[in-house]
Amino acid sequence: MNLDNTDQKLLALAKEAAINAYAPYSGYRVGSAILTASGEIFTGANVENASYSLTICAERSAIFKAVNAGYKDFSAIAIYVDSDRDFPPCGACRQVMAEFSPDLKVIYANLNGFQVTDLKTLLPGQFKL
Ligand SMILES: [Zn+2]
Repeated sequence: MNLDNTDQKLLALAKEAAINAYAPYSGYRVGSAILTASGEIFTGANVENASYSLTICAERSAIFKAVNAGYKDFSAIAIYVDSDRDFPPCGACRQVMAEFSPDLKVIYANLNGFQVTDLKTLLPGQFKL
């Protein structure tokens, strides 16, 4: 599958965001860029902590930044990791994505390439209150 111009821009911004990751424990620098339904883009990176459970992923960093700026409807998210390994979003991030945009387009990439999917595929049977 090819990426359109917007997807390529999102992925480039995710890659750039990974530069600011704080990942002294895992060594995996992850960046993310989320596109709002109205066209704004917010980025985030993983921020780890010596108390591991306090770590926040790049995806949630970007989403929480967007929500704090008043945006709650998203159309796509790109995630980049500077590794050969595939890093699809973790379960916690999938649930946070589902809170706002159950049909979110998800692009995740590493040093070797990218995958394009959507949240309905990554998180079937989404939990809602
Ligand atoms: Zn996550």
